[in-house]
Amino acid sequence: MKYDISVHEFLEQSHGGNIDYSDFVLSYLEDLKTVSKRLRLMQCISGKLVKPQHDLYGLPFTVKDNICTQGMQSSAGSKILEGYVPPFDATAVLRVKEAGGFIAGKTNCDEFGFGTFSTNSAYGIPKNPLDPTRTCGGSSGGAAGVIAALGYPQISLGESTGGSISCPAAFCNVVGLTPTYGLVSRYGLIDYANSLDKIGVITRRVEDAALGLSLIAGHDPRDSTSLQISQKEYKAEHDLKGVKIAVPKEYFQHIDKQVEKNVRDAIKKMESNGAIISEVSLPSTKYALAAYYIIATSEASTNLSRYCGMRYGLHGKLKGGFNEYFTAVRTEGFGEEAKRRIILGTFARMSGYREQYYMKAMRVRTLITQDFKKIFAKHDVICAPTMPVPAPRFREIEKLTPLQNYQMDVLTVPANLSGVPHMSVPCGRTIGLHMICDHLQEQKLLNIAAGFEGLK
Ligand code: GLN
Repeated sequence: MKYDISVHEFLEQSHGGNIDYSDFVLSYLEDLKTVSKRLRLMQCISGKLVKPQHDLYGLPFTVKDNICTQGMQSSAGSKILEGYVPPFDATAVLRVKEAGGFIAGKTNCDEFGFGTFSTNSAYGIPKNPLDPTRTCGGSSGGAAGVIAALGYPQISLGESTGGSISCPAAFCNVVGLTPTYGLVSRYGLIDYANSLDKIGVITRRVEDAALGLSLIAGHDPRDSTSLQISQKEYKAEHDLKGVKIAVPKEYFQHIDKQVEKNVRDAIKKMESNGAIISEVSLPSTKYALAAYYIIATSEASTNLSRYCGMRYGLHGKLKGGFNEYFTAVRTEGFGEEAKRRIILGTFARMSGYREQYYMKAMRVRTLITQDFKKIFAKHDVICAPTMPVPAPRFREIEKLTPLQNYQMDVLTVPANLSGVPHMSVPCGRTIGLHMICDHLQEQKLLNIAAGFEGLK
C-alpha cells in the first residue's frame, strides 16, 4: 500500500512537500469506507475535506462517537441520540483541528460506552480486522479496529471509563493510552460516569500516542475537573534500564493460559533488557469490579435522565402526559444495556441503599488508590495482562450473562477507579501487556512502553 508509512514519516514528508495531500486523503477515505462497510467500524465518515495546514498537515483523526464534533453526528452509539449534530467541538477535537488535523469520521462504540465488546451499539457491531469472527473489544471498538485495519498514518481519539481504551487496543493489537483523570478536558464528551471518564488515544505505535497526548492534554477552563497543567510535548524515548516493574500476583488469577504466557514472556524480555522485576500484591483488587459497577452505573443513571426526547436526538409523537411521552421515547431509544444500567444505578442510589452500596464503593475506591500509591512509592510501573482472555468470538460472547460480561473488566477497572494513567501495548495475537504508572507519570509510561515496543 502506497501510504503505509508512520505518522512521523507522514509529517516529515508533508513538511518537505513530498505528499500529494488530495491523493492521500481521498485514498484514505475510500479505504476507510470500504473497510468500515465490511467491519462496521464507523458511525459516519466525513465528506468535508480540509486544506492541509501545519503542524499536522491534515493527518487523519477518527473520533469515538461519544465525543462531540461540530457538524457531524455524535450519537454515542445510541439510537436516542440519532440525528444529534452538535454545534460545537469537544476541546480535544478542537485542539486537533487547530493543530491542522483532519477529522475523518466517528468511530462506532458501545451505547454511551456501556460494554466491553462493542456489541451494545445501535449502529451495528464492529468486527475485529484480525479475525472478523471476533470482537474488536469495547467500548471504543471502532477506534481500535480502524487503527488495526488501515496501515495509513492516523490517530484515533477514544474514551475510557473502566477500560474502554485498553481493552480494544489489546484485542486489535494496537496501542491504547488512557491518561490521568483530568489531564485531558472532558468538555464535549458525552458523559457516561463523570468521575471516571477520560479521553485518550489509540494508535499504531507508542510514539503516535505521545503525539496524540501532546495535542489534547492540558488545562481547559471549560471543564471544572480539568487539572491545572499546561499543554506540553510528550515524547517516547526508549527506556528500560533500571526500570522497576511491579507484577501484581492478583492480576494473574483466573486468566487464560496463553495470555499468562505471553505477558510473563514479555516481562522476562524486559528484565533481560535491564528492567528490575518484583512480584507485589494489590489486595483490594478483588473489590474493584463491584465498586466500579456501583459507581459507574450510579453516575450513568443520573446522566441518562437528560435524554427524554425533548432536547437532543430522538423525538417521538407528543401523546399523553410527560411521563408517558418520556417513557415512550426512552423505551424506543435506549438499548437493553442502557436500561439495565439505569435500573442498577437508580437502585444503588436509593435512599435506603446509599450507605450500603454507593458509600461503601467510594471507600473501596480510596483503598484501591492507597494500594497503588504503596506500589508506586517503590516501583516505576505495574505490568500485567490487559484483559483476562484473547479477543473472544461473537458466538462465545452471546453465551455470557451480564455478570460474566462485567467480569471481563476485572483487570482494567482498578487503574480507572483511581485515575492513574495506563497503556496497553501488543504482546501477542489479540493480547495486550498492560502498563500502569502513578498519577501524571505519562512521560515515564510512554518511555517504558516505547522501550518494550522497541524490543520486537
Ligand atoms: N466495560 C466497562 C463498562 O462497561 C468499561 C466501559 C468504558 O470504559 N467506557 O462500563
